[in-house]
Amino acid sequence: MRTVDTQEARERLEASLADLDRSIATLTPRVGESEHHGTPGDADAGLDLADNARAAALLEVATEQRRQVVEALRRIEDGTYGLCVICGEPLPEGRLEARPEAARCMACQAKAESH
Ligand SMILES: [Zn+2]
Repeated sequence: MRTVDTQEARERLEASLADLDRSIATLTPRVGESEHHGTPGDADAGLDLADNARAAALLEVATEQRRQVVEALRRIEDGTYGLCVICGEPLPEGRLEARPEAARCMACQAKAESH
């Protein structure tokens, strides 16, 4: 059985978790904070709306990615890290290098995305 360097993977995952937490904190609208940032009469209202929509989309992506990172860290604890969660085959090393949080092999990922 091929051994995966989980120590390095864990460090990378924990670093991305910290990054994602920072992004999510930045993107999450702050409750209770004044919503009136601009000076009155500012012509930026439309731009702000577009910015809000983009921030919401980014927040969604970051939240989903954070979930995958948390799951990958859990697989390290379980000793199943580096195996496809669908078929159980070891993930190609290059795939884990590109995406340490990858959960599926290319074939299963392609199937999941075609649904
Ligand atoms: Zn698979």
